[in-house]
Amino acid sequence: MANPNQEVKYTKLFINNEFVNSVSGKTFETLNPSTEKKIADIAEGDKADVDLAVAAAKKAFERKSEWRNLDSTARAALLNKLADLIARDIDIISNLEALDTGKPIDHAKMQVGWAVNVFRSVASYADKIFGRTVPSDGALFSYTRKEPVGVVGLITPWNYPILLVAMKVGPALAAGCTIIHKPAEQTPLTALYVAALSKEAGFPAGVLNVIPGYGPTAGAAITSHADVRKVGFTGSTEVGKLIMEAAAKSNLKKVSLELGGKSPFVVFDDVNLDEVIPVAVEGVFTNAGQICIAPSRTFVQESIYDEFVKKVVAYAKNRKLGSQFTSGVQQGPQVDKDTFDKVLTYIEYGKQDGAKLELGGKRWGTEGYFIEPTIFSNVTDNMRIARDEIFGPVMSILKFKTLEEVIDRANNTEYGLSSTVFTKNIEQAFAFANQVEAGNVKVNSGGMGNNLPFGGYKQSGIGREGGDYGVELYLETKAVSIKMPYKM
Ligand code: NAD
Repeated sequence: MANPNQEVKYTKLFINNEFVNSVSGKTFETLNPSTEKKIADIAEGDKADVDLAVAAAKKAFERKSEWRNLDSTARAALLNKLADLIARDIDIISNLEALDTGKPIDHAKMQVGWAVNVFRSVASYADKIFGRTVPSDGALFSYTRKEPVGVVGLITPWNYPILLVAMKVGPALAAGCTIIHKPAEQTPLTALYVAALSKEAGFPAGVLNVIPGYGPTAGAAITSHADVRKVGFTGSTEVGKLIMEAAAKSNLKKVSLELGGKSPFVVFDDVNLDEVIPVAVEGVFTNAGQICIAPSRTFVQESIYDEFVKKVVAYAKNRKLGSQFTSGVQQGPQVDKDTFDKVLTYIEYGKQDGAKLELGGKRWGTEGYFIEPTIFSNVTDNMRIARDEIFGPVMSILKFKTLEEVIDRANNTEYGLSSTVFTKNIEQAFAFANQVEAGNVKVNSGGMGNNLPFGGYKQSGIGREGGDYGVELYLETKAVSIKMPYKM
């Protein structure tokens, strides 16, 4: 049941299966972005707390520990139990997620359901982590083993908090690692709730530790810790670089990165625009545009350009904005003041650089961080709104003539996370899909299938999450050769 007054039970750090205050005693406020009012005070983790969490995770990972001795089927059962508990508490978790992020409650609930599916999916891999036998030359019996990396640090952003808990914590647990998770400072509530459920599910103490706090303090303490063997990060490209640097300067911990994007959405002139426009609009404006894979460069072929602009504006202008708990709302606020200011700044850049403002362009309402759905036409490749990730409800529409031209222009970016193409011409679709520099390609659709790898080309990331690819990120491969009396 949607409840804007949902009780917040867990506000402390979660270390060794206990909720504790931070060593410093400091707290920080988490806000409701629709009202700009405080939801709760959260214990603020820092280096001293990370040290305690890493020590707990290291102990839980010791040889012969309860966690290391667990059969892989038992690990799968624990993950399924955790999925069951999240499903049991879906209403509570959806309320917390909606409160903390501002996203509409139905959208939040869909993501909690998605997180349940991710936990169930990774559970199915936990007892299927196979090595191989390898036919070596000579009298050797050779095989490989997959082993958990060890203590891992997971750092997540605020745009899809519960889903990213599932995408990171799930595979790391399936692989048998122990974890220090730092959720984004804007949205710590659902990660703490899942921590409580992990204890209820029966995960041994120290296996999952959650340290809310800020990036340059708690986050940096994780990335430079000598006993953390791997960092899994989702967030901005800028911070991704800091993380690689900290990993290199400390203990050369392994790093996987899911970063930003500026994804192309290409519309050829042979399509039915009434089918394409809802997909283009949802892609850019869902979650108030705070989506890493947002198709924020909309390339439309010359002969249908004017018609597309007219129809997309007519469609987007009907979007309903409002508080996360108001029925029928499609777009909530930006997550915080910084993000709100950044988006409005980019809207100004759009105007200054000569794009034509077709819709929106300003704050919506007088309270909360709402921004009107905003559409620019006549956008060219060098404008700031066409180059930088805005992470807000801003669509930039560019014009193109030919397939070859649009492939080159789509690839003319340092990002490479996602891409979409709409055409009825199969050769054109394949040509685009095979030559675009992006980790995923959607053809005539806004969605990707499940169990596929997810990640970025170029500065959009390193590594792939999703399905067995996600579990692989948390495994080492060991090669073993045993001398035999003769070749057999
Ligand atoms: P961000 O990079 O500012 O923060 C992400 C996380 O990193 C937060 O938990 C933050 O506290 C932490 N952090 C910040 N500085 C740090 C430091 N010096 N050391 C360690 N940790 C630090 O990103 P954001 O604003 O929270 O999220 C938006 C970004 O995330 C966008 O660029 C978006 O594209 C990206 N994103 C990518 C994906 C993907 O799967 N590729 C998914 C969601 C979001």
